[in-house]
Amino acid sequence: MLLIYCPYCEEERPEIEFRHAGQAHLVRSPDIADQGELEFEAYLYLRQNPKGIIAERWRHIHGCGRFFNAIRDTVSDRIYATYKAGELMPDLDAVLANAPNVAHSGKPLTQPAASAATSALAARKSEA
Ligand SMILES: [Zn+2]
Repeated sequence: MLLIYCPYCEEERPEIEFRHAGQAHLVRSPDIADQGELEFEAYLYLRQNPKGIIAERWRHIHGCGRFFNAIRDTVSDRIYATYKAGELMPDLDAVLANAPNVAHSGKPLTQPAASAATSALAARKSEA
């Protein structure tokens, strides 16, 4: 069973107490009403799905009920760090360097997650 550290409860709890809540660090544009359909579609639906390290939102649904973020390897399912919602993503190099027995399987996420939707949108526009 996977143990997940809740940064609010400050303890590890079994995974059955948590619910995955999608990609972390998505930023809603302040001028969203002025966006075109493709930009809004990208914001609303396009998400990263990497093989490797990703920043995700999780909710301690059967505990404190609060949302937080986690750095997880999608291949090994290992969670390297958790941090409170609203906090900046920790430096991945430092997180991986401090993790014991690290053999991460993918390229670390080095760009803000929101830019993935922008990249996907640019790719779609160039196809059109
Ligand atoms: Zn909690």
